Amino acid sequence: MANEDKFKKVISHAKEYGYVFQSSEIYDGLSAVYDYAQNGAELKKNIRDYWWKAMVQMHDNIVGIDAAIFMHPTTWKASGHVDAFNDPLIDNKDSKKRYRADVLVEDYCAKIEGKINKEVKKAEKRFGDAFNKDEFVSTNGRVLGYQEKIDTILKRLGQSLENEDLADVKALIEELGIADPLSGSKNWTDVKQFNLMFGTKLGASADTAMDLYLRPETAQGIFVNFLNVQKTGRMKIPFGIAQTGKAFRNEIVARQFIFRMREFEQMEMQFFIKPGTQKEWFEYWKDTRLKWHKSLGMGDDNYRFHDHEKLAHYADAATDIEFNFPFGFKELEGIHSRTDFDLKQHEEYSGKKLQYFDHEDNENYTPYVLETSIGLDRMFLAVFSNSLVDETLEDGTVRTVLKLPAVLAPTKAAVLPLVRKDEALTKMAKTIVDDLKWEFNVAYDEKDAVGRRYRRQDAAGTPFCITVDGESIEDNTVTIRHRDTMEQKRVNVEELRDIIKKEVDVKEWLMKMK
Ligand code: ATP
Repeated sequence: MANEDKFKKVISHAKEYGYVFQSSEIYDGLSAVYDYAQNGAELKKNIRDYWWKAMVQMHDNIVGIDAAIFMHPTTWKASGHVDAFNDPLIDNKDSKKRYRADVLVEDYCAKIEGKINKEVKKAEKRFGDAFNKDEFVSTNGRVLGYQEKIDTILKRLGQSLENEDLADVKALIEELGIADPLSGSKNWTDVKQFNLMFGTKLGASADTAMDLYLRPETAQGIFVNFLNVQKTGRMKIPFGIAQTGKAFRNEIVARQFIFRMREFEQMEMQFFIKPGTQKEWFEYWKDTRLKWHKSLGMGDDNYRFHDHEKLAHYADAATDIEFNFPFGFKELEGIHSRTDFDLKQHEEYSGKKLQYFDHEDNENYTPYVLETSIGLDRMFLAVFSNSLVDETLEDGTVRTVLKLPAVLAPTKAAVLPLVRKDEALTKMAKTIVDDLKWEFNVAYDEKDAVGRRYRRQDAAGTPFCITVDGESIEDNTVTIRHRDTMEQKRVNVEELRDIIKKEVDVKEWLMKMK
């Protein structure tokens, strides 16, 4: 399936199976805002829990907090967001469409990268088993030419943005002949900066009301609480503070479904360390976070690191973990070495000391910070899109199956009485549901032929179907069918709990990080 078709299928499947709805749909929707439906809310919660367990529960030096969305407005002066949380935007004069200037250039480079991939595929075919990809891309003249072109463009873009030289960003777009992807027009305005924070007001009367922002990241709620947590938790450096919560950005270009939203959720962790140790911790967190992703078994080749050319004002090193989304490799998580920038800024703006006394070295210092920051919605999209497959079966029919990692699946098992009208079967099926629901999310489904019910549960991502039939009443056995293999086994009802647990238990999955 072409990537664009695949992405369309992801969006429609997410709606049809109760995962994601457009916000306020009956009023024609609100752009780049989405609601999580009955299954989506469960999947999202399971992803959040999987992250929280790996970060907070499994690290005895990381604790979690839940800071408010509203913060004192000076927070955002100190953090640099009021002055520098901007995106460079450009308008097309003919189509009146607005774009992020940097994204136009990056997309142009992605097209050149597509050409590299084509060359690689061609060579792979030609050389067969003897093909060595690393050698090919480092020696083939055409590939090297493409790569050099990409590097030169991105370097220039990085430098122009760094130097706030927006005229050069426009010049670059014109030199590359980039056209509006929708209309094909090359009639561009100048590039301007646009602040991404949403403003609101606190207070009743117009003259005393205070201007506030909806937080554009959760991290600042951690920085301003650094000393409170360190003291009350008697935390010793190195230690981390984690939190999950909503963030808001007035994104200029907000297409691509839940990849780029105006209201979204982040899962962030700030790790406070001794100055000078940031390189080691940067490597440690790169490695640990990648292992977390890989533990979900979504294909090791679907991840890659992308080191930042242009560093944010606070960072001395930064990388993205990119994931192979239906529209190509894009940022899923950021890992940033933020130095002591944030704590120092908050010290300056608040006039309060935010330092740590290191008893071992007998010295006071402002800790450095390593941050891991992942969008929960983007992770949701990664999991959902990667899991959705159309499988051609031996008899030539196609089944759509959502192969979610079982640990994340909203419903772990569906219990199906073979015949709806047989009261003994429905009663037994309901008893099994009542028993299993203490531990797992289970569903009861009696409508339609059993084959159709299997397909429905496959498409909804349920790892197990348990079928109760005539034999069940006699010997207390049922069939348990596995979503991915479609294998069916006859087991005793007493065994169900252990069979399901083995496949959905968080411990079994997180152990894969070892
Ligand atoms: P991008 O370059 O895609 O705009 P960013 O570099 O601005 O992302 P960060 O500020 O590093 O993103 O935010 C950390 C994480 O939060 C990102 O890796 C992403 O997963 C998520 N995120 C950021 N912006 C959005 C958004 N508008 N919608 C959904 N998730 C987002």
